[in-house]
Amino acid sequence: QRSWGVPIPALQCTSCGEAELTSSIVAQAADVFEHSGADAWYEHDLTEFVPKDFTCPSCGGQDFRREQDILDVWFDSGSSHEGVQLKHPELGWPLTLYLEGSDQYRGWFHSSLLVGLGTRNAAPYSQVITHGFVVDELGRKMSKSLGNTIEPQAIIKQSGAEVLRLWVAMVDYREEIRIGKEILARVVEAYRKIRNTLRILVANLYDFDPDTDMVPLNRLQEIDRYIVSRYAEAASSTLLSYERYEFQAISHTINRLLTVD
Ligand SMILES: [Zn+2]
Repeated sequence: QRSWGVPIPALQCTSCGEAELTSSIVAQAADVFEHSGADAWYEHDLTEFVPKDFTCPSCGGQDFRREQDILDVWFDSGSSHEGVQLKHPELGWPLTLYLEGSDQYRGWFHSSLLVGLGTRNAAPYSQVITHGFVVDELGRKMSKSLGNTIEPQAIIKQSGAEVLRLWVAMVDYREEIRIGKEILARVVEAYRKIRNTLRILVANLYDFDPDTDMVPLNRLQEIDRYIVSRYAEAASSTLLSYERYEFQAISHTINRLLTVD
């Protein structure tokens, strides 16, 4: 048993050996922890944790030892939804979404589920999304010894933060996420196309005033009606993809609309 972690603030009677953990003991410990942190259990005098006039319910003893066992190490993260709820009641309960790496099914998602079920008989989240881990272009784990690590700061310095953001939007985050020079070159290319298309559109529309220049749909030329309809399709599929957290589909849709249509 590890001796560090969140302690179980139980009092053990030195006369009869019974361990006591009542709500008044827990409340008193919570009070001390609030000011001094959970390590106070090991560092402070035990009398700080014994409620006034508390005696052993089994033998009436008044001398206690502190419990050395700690709570499961996943308990703190598993109960984080209660802390969030306390500070941000506007978020409601259960919370909308838990987002973490795919290693958390047995970690945070699991411990949160146990705490939620134990205390409220329900999962603390409505949805769970997991992402893969970033690997290099060949699918290898990044490591200093392989020399294949890429710092986000370096990408931002070389190509700008927009390129990094677009890369995030273009990858399938549910699988392993690859990054490398060639992949980034393709992102830079895609970024240029989006930017250039928007520049041309903005330049063409610089003197467009909807009040005087707008043409009703039934008087538009066929090619204009075509692009208006393509835009509507792309917009509704984009909104749907946002609801499903399918960001890669969104960048595909926008890319196709801007570069193919
Ligand atoms: Zn006792």
